[in-house]
Amino acid sequence: MMKDIATPVRTTAILEKYGFSFKKSLGQNFLIEPNILSRIVDHAEVTDKTGVIEIGPGIGALTEQLARRAKKVVAFEIDQRLLPILNETLAPYPNVSIIHQDVLEADLKRAVKEHFSDCEEIMVVANLPYYVTTPIIMKLLEDQLPLKGIVVMLQKEVADRISAKPSTKEYGSLSIAVQYYTDAKTVMTVPKTVFVPQPNVDSAIIRLLVRNEPIVELENESFFFQIVRASFAQRRKTLLNNLVHFLPNGKELKPVIEETLSQVNIDGKRRGESLSIEEFAKLSDALDKVLT
Ligand code: SAM
Repeated sequence: MMKDIATPVRTTAILEKYGFSFKKSLGQNFLIEPNILSRIVDHAEVTDKTGVIEIGPGIGALTEQLARRAKKVVAFEIDQRLLPILNETLAPYPNVSIIHQDVLEADLKRAVKEHFSDCEEIMVVANLPYYVTTPIIMKLLEDQLPLKGIVVMLQKEVADRISAKPSTKEYGSLSIAVQYYTDAKTVMTVPKTVFVPQPNVDSAIIRLLVRNEPIVELENESFFFQIVRASFAQRRKTLLNNLVHFLPNGKELKPVIEETLSQVNIDGKRRGESLSIEEFAKLSDALDKVLT
C-alpha cells in the first residue's frame, strides 16, 4: 500500500518529482506527521455524514486523512502549481473536489449548497496559511454558514488570543468576536518540527463549535463590535477614555457616556480588557439607546 502523503519520505518524493519550491508569502508550511493530522481529524469528529471545507490543501496531506473519514471534502487552494500535484495525490479519493481560488474571495454559501446538500453536518478543517489566519476565521464566522464548527491549526499566539478570558493580556476584540459566535478551545499545541519548512512560530490546534444561540442577545450587533473595538483601542487607557476618544463624537458625548456607564454599573476607570462579553453587551445596548 502507498504510504500516507504526510510521511516525510512520500512528501519529499512528491516535492522532488514536481520540482516544487515553497512560497513563504503563501504561508506554505506542510505537515509531515500523519499522527498530528489524524489528531486534527479526531478533534473535528469527522464522520461519513460530514461535509468538510478545507482551506489550503497543499499537496493533500490533510485532505487525504479527511477524505478517508468524511462524506465529502471541498478544498480551496490558491496556488495553481499545486493543482497537478493534487490531481495525482488525491486520485484515489473520489469524494474530494479541489477549487482553485483564494478562499477570501470564495462564495462559500454557494459552495455549501452545491456540494453538501446530502451531508448532515459541515465542518471546516485546515492547517491555515498563517499570513491570513484572522481574516479567514472572521470570514467563516461572518458569512453565517451552516457550520457545526471549525478545527484548524494556527499560530499558538493567535489561538491564545481567540480563547482568552477577561483580564488576561491575550483578551481583546478578536477573543470577543470569535467567542460571540463560537465556543472556543485550544485543544493541542504543536511543535515546529512537524512542518516542512519549519515555521518561525509555535502552532496550536483550536476547536470552535458554532453556538446555536448567541452567547448574548444584542439590540445592535454592529454597534456592539464598534464599542468593543473602541474599548480596546489603547489598552492602557481606561474604558471611559477609550470610549470618549474612539467613538464618533465621543468627546461631545462624554457626559452621556459617563451617565450610561454608571446606569449599567460599570466603572469607567476599569480597562476594556476586564469586561466580560455580557458586560460589553449590557453597555452597548444601553449606549445604543442614547447614542444611535
Ligand atoms: N494542508 C497542507 C498541509 O497541512 O500540509 C498545507 C497547509 S499550508 C500551511 C497552507 C496552504 O494554504 C498552502 O497550500 C497555500 O498555498 C494555501 N493558501 C495560502 N493562501 C490561501 C488562500 N488565500 N486561499 C486558499 N489557499 C491558500
